[in-house]
Amino acid sequence: MVFELTKMTWPDVEDGLAESSLVVVPTASVEQHGPHLPLSVDALRGRELGRRIAAELDCFLAPVVRPGMSDHHMDFPGTISLSEETFKAVIRDYCESLTDHGFTDIALFTSHGGNADALVEVADRLDADLDGHVFVAGDREGMMEARTAAMGEFGVTPEEAGAHAGAAETAFLLETNPELVEPTDGATGFVGDVSDIPLEDGIRAVSDNGVLGDPEQATLEQGERLIESCASYFAGEIEAETARAVESR
Ligand SMILES: [Zn+2]
Repeated sequence: MVFELTKMTWPDVEDGLAESSLVVVPTASVEQHGPHLPLSVDALRGRELGRRIAAELDCFLAPVVRPGMSDHHMDFPGTISLSEETFKAVIRDYCESLTDHGFTDIALFTSHGGNADALVEVADRLDADLDGHVFVAGDREGMMEARTAAMGEFGVTPEEAGAHAGAAETAFLLETNPELVEPTDGATGFVGDVSDIPLEDGIRAVSDNGVLGDPEQATLEQGERLIESCASYFAGEIEAETARAVESR
């Protein structure tokens, strides 16, 4: 059972809080995702993962925080980027509102890598300042492992699955929002090791179409497997963290 805040009335929220005071908060982006995917990819992924996670944990789901920190995508039209200061302030206000209503555990996660460091910093701060337990579920390495494992089952390499708008994100959207996926022929971008790429130069310095990976390898079947794998990774991390917190109370 998912308690999806944006679909509920306030009395429903009040009743729901008697059953669970854990809320999952996805953070995402509004940024370019190549010539074949919409700017909402990370937000759509965040919502779908959030929905699956909340279903597994029988808890609340807050609306996706978007946009996020996307300076490295600003060379591409349409991208909307928050400064680090604004992003952290938005997260603070979100969490303060939620703890004010009696949520005791706030599980943040990000479907957009650019938010990761700032999110951990602000969550640590809020955990100390607010009444509830505020934490970031999982990390980029863990999510990438879940992604690589799922895509690997279909013979897709990590480089093809891609760090951005590659086979993985394309497969995800083929499953959740096929109507938003444009033809992928010719959408292949930089397929290689991206670990040393300096983000401050922007994505366009390495990929002219904004893609890191090979969207042409994406299939619908991969999408379903990928979503399962990533959602169960985050749900497991949230369960472990809330259990740790209970023990230390
Ligand atoms: Zn993305």
